[in-house]
Amino acid sequence: MTHILHRQIHGTLPVAVAGRGVELFDRDGRAYIDASGGAAVSCLGHGHPDVIGALHEQADRLAYAHTGFFTSEPAEELADMLVANAPTGISHVYFVSGGSEAVEAALKMARQYFVEKGEPQRRAIIARHQSYHGNTLGALAAGGNAMRRAQFQPLLAETQHIEPCYAYRHRRDDESEEEYGLRVAQGLEDKIQELGAETVMAFIAEPVVGATAGAVPAVPGYLKRVREICDRHGVLLILDEVMCGMGRTGTLHACTQDGVAPDLMTIAKGLGGGYQPIGAVLLSQAIFDAFATGSGLFQHGHTYIGHPVACAAALAVQRVIERDGLLENVRTMGERLRSLLAERLGPHPHVGDLRGRGLFLGLEIVEDRATKAPFDPALKLHARIKQAAMARGLLVYPAGGTIDGARGDHVLVAPPFIVEDQDLDRIADRLGTAIDEAVADRG
Ligand code: PMP
Repeated sequence: MTHILHRQIHGTLPVAVAGRGVELFDRDGRAYIDASGGAAVSCLGHGHPDVIGALHEQADRLAYAHTGFFTSEPAEELADMLVANAPTGISHVYFVSGGSEAVEAALKMARQYFVEKGEPQRRAIIARHQSYHGNTLGALAAGGNAMRRAQFQPLLAETQHIEPCYAYRHRRDDESEEEYGLRVAQGLEDKIQELGAETVMAFIAEPVVGATAGAVPAVPGYLKRVREICDRHGVLLILDEVMCGMGRTGTLHACTQDGVAPDLMTIAKGLGGGYQPIGAVLLSQAIFDAFATGSGLFQHGHTYIGHPVACAAALAVQRVIERDGLLENVRTMGERLRSLLAERLGPHPHVGDLRGRGLFLGLEIVEDRATKAPFDPALKLHARIKQAAMARGLLVYPAGGTIDGARGDHVLVAPPFIVEDQDLDRIADRLGTAIDEAVADRG
């Protein structure tokens, strides 16, 4: 009997008791290859001695000091490192405890920026269908996942949702990826014009969509055009890199690969690698200046912002990634995993798409490859794949997103940056078998 309210009320979960490298272990002694890192959290794997050492040391020296009274060494050093490696124009960092908090803070920064600038009529948020920005009310309002929003709709602030950039489903046969990207980006400009640019505050998007659609990257040129459109209309661009950022796609920030720098960027999961709950908003000099020359404060705050132990853990995680050249490993292992999955699952009758960047890969499971028709949502195929994989000692992250009104099934594969060749073989083998089993047992 558990007294914890888990997300899934029914069914029992194994008790995780240990983690080492790419593996997690439960109380019954079963080992699991952690090929999803929760959902792209555990970038360094488990039990990394350098991070644990840094955690101990910081907890020993100082666990907590309120940011209303003090700053701390690890928070300052982490902020320096993040700004030094940030996209052009980013000058400051605001620490929070996770992804949803980062999105909430970014939205409030966008709003306050325009208030400070004397444009209080700018309040509309434009986001995309099939996106996920978090579960708190502001972040949920921005997100475009119909299923997650449905029952909370009356509590959600109004957000305008436009088409996602989702080539597998929406690119027409007669257009190139680039043409498709420009066509979808035009949807943003149309929406801004429909609302009146002077009322629009920000556009928020994930450069590579994670939780809702299984690692769907923007096509080449899409984000560049989005950036141009935002600039043309004075709209802030918020890139949500909570899942796809901090090295997951092979560069520290996913948007670098698109040649785009945002006004605000949210990061979280890979920042602390799961060793501590931490997230952050990276903001541009222009936004900082508006606060500095305006009211002189950002009207926000949480008890645990800039928590010294969380910052020390994140700093250690980021230093190990830099010292050990792990982004290079993300790129080479990502390519290798992609080809292994393509070999094993490319011809699979129910794998419609294999996509992603770096060690952030997604598979879309369909009933019919020719028509791309998804399986009946009642079958919950993604959940069956997760179960079958777990039974074989593999953790992958399932999702049932909303596709054209029907729910489709995706599997997200996001192993730690330290994976080695033999891990990849086991991941591809076990995942292939799990998909076969789940499809065969679907009833
Ligand atoms: N934004 C994105 C892109 C995410 O993937 C997530 C988490 N899946 C969030 C925001 C919310 O983060 P958290 O769960 O840490 O609140």
